[in-house]
Amino acid sequence: MKPSISVDAAPSISELFIQEEMRSEKYANSARIFFTLVYLCTGYAIKNEVPETSFLIIIIGASINLLYGIIVYFITGNNRHYRWLKYLSVCVDVFLLSIVIYSIGTFRSFKTEAFLLYFLWIGLATIRFSPKLTLITGLLSLISYFSITLLALGNHTIELGTITDSFISSRVSLTNIIVQMMFLSMFVGIALYISSIYRTLVEKAIDKLLVEKENIELSKTLKTLKSTQKELHNKNRELRYISETDALSQLYNRRKTEELLQTICARAKFHSEPFSLILLDIDLFKKINDEYGHPVGDKVIIQIAANLKVNVRDEDAVGRWGGEEFLVICPSLEVDSAKGLAERLRKDIQFNCGELARTVTCSFGVTKWMKGDTPATIINRVDKALYQSKENGRNCVTLL
Ligand code: GH3
Ligand code: MG
Ligand code: MG
Repeated sequence: MKPSISVDAAPSISELFIQEEMRSEKYANSARIFFTLVYLCTGYAIKNEVPETSFLIIIIGASINLLYGIIVYFITGNNRHYRWLKYLSVCVDVFLLSIVIYSIGTFRSFKTEAFLLYFLWIGLATIRFSPKLTLITGLLSLISYFSITLLALGNHTIELGTITDSFISSRVSLTNIIVQMMFLSMFVGIALYISSIYRTLVEKAIDKLLVEKENIELSKTLKTLKSTQKELHNKNRELRYISETDALSQLYNRRKTEELLQTICARAKFHSEPFSLILLDIDLFKKINDEYGHPVGDKVIIQIAANLKVNVRDEDAVGRWGGEEFLVICPSLEVDSAKGLAERLRKDIQFNCGELARTVTCSFGVTKWMKGDTPATIINRVDKALYQSKENGRNCVTLL
């Protein structure tokens, strides 16, 4: 009873429902082909017991039904959906069955074997989980059976008898017919109930399937979203690094250094957190460029930047302030300590870059934040200090 639908195949409720309808139509058709073959065999088996015309009608009726089954087999094979097909099918089934029963014409066919086939077709309507179709099949069966019984009685194909007659002779009693009609009606009611339960089950299964599918989609989207978010985060970090970093020296660029200076000035102003600044400039750098070439000059800048990075404290920030000028921002560092740091840097640079044919030196300016300072005033002061170092013969530290 449980519909078996593949997850990937169906994108919407209606499409899933149609798929399931097509599947049930195929099952019903397989049953039709099977039972019609049984019809045919039975027809041959009772060949000698029924008149030749009845036999012929049984064979023709069964053959038409079989042919119909084969046509439906091919129609449903290409997975196209025909809404009218199930209605046509039940009409063909009930109509042909009624013709066969009528043509056999014996009291047995009206009371027992052939009559039971109505139940079969109603049952087959039930597996298509459509209460409407079940009702149509049931009503058609009731009307057909009633009509052919009246016709058979009118034509004296069967004779009306008493209830006792119906057990011992070839007569059919009115009670018998009424009871059969009631049975059939009851069965239609039960079939209606079953098909509506089946329909609910199918709808629930489809709903569940869709929810599962949606959940799968959602978790996929979530996964993609998470990886995109991670990628975005990494890209943002990369972008921030690029926007803050000087490409040659890998130190903070001018913009970021100015930003840091502004922040630390604001902190000093509002939270009384002192800081010191060191500005250094490579001595006679133009000469290095001229004598060894611009690429060597670049290497010197890279080397000095690396030296600065490893020699300052973790909390200090080093930025490339100009072409061959660097600014070291030293939070919470007393100016004397800043001077000491500048001295260390001076010696270290001189020592490490000595591998060039000439000694590379730097001149330093050092200052501390003073009350009322702005980024411009403090930079101005440290620049003056640096200038004094240059004036004093370079490769030295001046404190202002
Ligand atoms: P001083 O000791 O007075 O500072 O003399 P200096 O030669 O270093 O000063 P100056 O300002 O005359 O020269 C600075 C030179 O730095 C000029 C410029 O070509 C060079 N320079 C600036 N940026 C770069 C760079 O990125 N790479 C290289 N190789 N040279 C640069
Ligand atoms: Mg210079
Ligand atoms: Mg300079």
